[in-house]
Amino acid sequence: MIPYGKQNIDKSDIKAVVEVLNSDFLTQGPVTPEFEIAISNYCGSKYSCAVNSASSALHISCLALGVKKGDWVWTSPISFVASSNCALHCDANIDFVDIDLESYNISPIKLEEKLRQAEKIGRLPKVLIPVHLSGQSSDMKEIFKLSKKYGFFIIEDASHAIGAKYHDQKVGSCKYSDITVFSFHPVKIITTCEGGICTTNSHEIYNKLCRYRSHGVTRHEKEMTKKPDGSWYYEQLDLGFNFRLNDLMSALGISQLKKINQFVKKRNEIAKYYDELFKNVDVITPKVLKHNYSSFHLYIIRIPNKGNKFSRNEIFKKLKDNGVGVNIHYIPIYRQPFYKKFNFDYNEFFNSEKYYSEAISIPIYPGLKNEEQRFVFNTIIKPEGFQNLF
Ligand SMILES: *Cc1c(COP(=O)(O)O)cnc(C)c1O
Repeated sequence: MIPYGKQNIDKSDIKAVVEVLNSDFLTQGPVTPEFEIAISNYCGSKYSCAVNSASSALHISCLALGVKKGDWVWTSPISFVASSNCALHCDANIDFVDIDLESYNISPIKLEEKLRQAEKIGRLPKVLIPVHLSGQSSDMKEIFKLSKKYGFFIIEDASHAIGAKYHDQKVGSCKYSDITVFSFHPVKIITTCEGGICTTNSHEIYNKLCRYRSHGVTRHEKEMTKKPDGSWYYEQLDLGFNFRLNDLMSALGISQLKKINQFVKKRNEIAKYYDELFKNVDVITPKVLKHNYSSFHLYIIRIPNKGNKFSRNEIFKKLKDNGVGVNIHYIPIYRQPFYKKFNFDYNEFFNSEKYYSEAISIPIYPGLKNEEQRFVFNTIIKPEGFQNLF
């Protein structure tokens, strides 16, 4: 079985984790702050707040930006449900912006149209969450421009995109956003088992994120409402959570981060080899747009849905039957049964619907071998009825 994605753990990772296990602190010791600093240094952000998942990171990012009942949050429908659930967790309203069919990220043109309409009816979003699908940044310059014109905050859901670059800046620098979120789930670029992080350049946002991460509690005298009763004193200012990342997982994160450039380079090489294999075949391969360096979390191909000799669903089945762990990223979120009550009109999301009928994610991860790539390719192109050819 060839999975679509897989972590890459070596002896140095194991050693780093065992060292923490043998140390005095398993949870809130010195390692998580070290990991945060390492991530900020890597991405070029001022601050980082590590949490137990990207889902938690998205949730507290919305809270830190003041998202509440009555507010609107917009995101891409072609994402994992966490990108929009975070808004619902804050009792806000959710809406989606259609993607473009080159990057599969939010289309700035569709976004501008939707903003113009929303302005007329007084329903502008408080926060937009662009998703950097497969590891390619959204068009942040355009989105940032629109955020200034229409007055909304930006949270980048960069769960796929640590290690990616946009206009020579690392994703996570927050040059064009208020907060960037990364995921460290095992299928992502680097892992802490479960884990996520928020990067930001705002000290105020950073403080809020840290409070929401840990029960809304502060130990900073400056933030307190009164003079401390003593050195034990703390104050709860908001209703927060226990979303902390522990030292054990942070140690794995630090160790993994040391190898990130090598991982991303390998992913780009794998992508390039697939590009070559598919050169003369009627499938659409991923397009990396100008000013982008993708981290290639996913390699998504599209089987044009125009009655050609094989369909996406047939290819999906063929791959599965031959032990290739393919996947579809993603079912448009508005199609989820839980979202039915919001009455989304699928017609508004023409590109997302088309994408959903054509896309397949084929395996990509640093340990994937050339011959495995050829096996995936041959399985895709071999005619039906020749199941035993390989
Ligand atoms: C994986 C993922 C998340 C959630 O990440 P967790 O760390 O598993 O909570 C959110 N958004 C996107 C786009 C993802 O791929």
